[in-house]
Amino acid sequence: MVAVGVLALQGDFAEHAAILRRVGADAREVRLPADLEGLDALIIPGGESTTIARLLALYKLIEPIRAFAARRPVWGTCAGMIVMAKRATDLDQETLRLIDIDVVRNAFGRQVDSFETDVAVDEIEGPPVHAVFIRAPLVRAVGPGVKVLGRLADETIVAARQGHLLVTAFHPELTEDTRLHSYFISFAGGPGK
Ligand code: GLN
Repeated sequence: MVAVGVLALQGDFAEHAAILRRVGADAREVRLPADLEGLDALIIPGGESTTIARLLALYKLIEPIRAFAARRPVWGTCAGMIVMAKRATDLDQETLRLIDIDVVRNAFGRQVDSFETDVAVDEIEGPPVHAVFIRAPLVRAVGPGVKVLGRLADETIVAARQGHLLVTAFHPELTEDTRLHSYFISFAGGPGK
């Protein structure tokens, strides 16, 4: 069984853990550096990126997660994507700087701060993914090693991958669709590969 950690400092970690269990992974909550031991992959959930980034520093998780991400898959959803980005606007905290993207926080503005739409995601078979956006960030630019996996109709980048590092601006954990979780754990050699 693939052991997948979910960073459980703040945000919707319980929803990720529930889907991971449905797709047959051993989901474990991560709050301290020692909790990374024995994990095959890690998810950083949605929530509030300022809070998550502050708690990462407080619990001395930044360097351990960087070391983990050098060898193992990590996926950030929404706030988790912000925390994984090399560059984030409007964030006065250090990020993990794992993936070579520029993100803009709260990019969709107050009028449409939450919305749902279908996004065709490369590498996910079948119909488009129903994507839930909640005060979501967008990806403004990606570095040369980053593959764009999904865009909105207006071309805004909302899913990308750099090797085994995955980011989505939306929240697959808030839907019944388990395909993205299966796809992610396939990076760790789990079911779906
Ligand atoms: N707006 C939040 C942030 O900037 C992200 C929201 C979310 O994760 N749903 O951290």
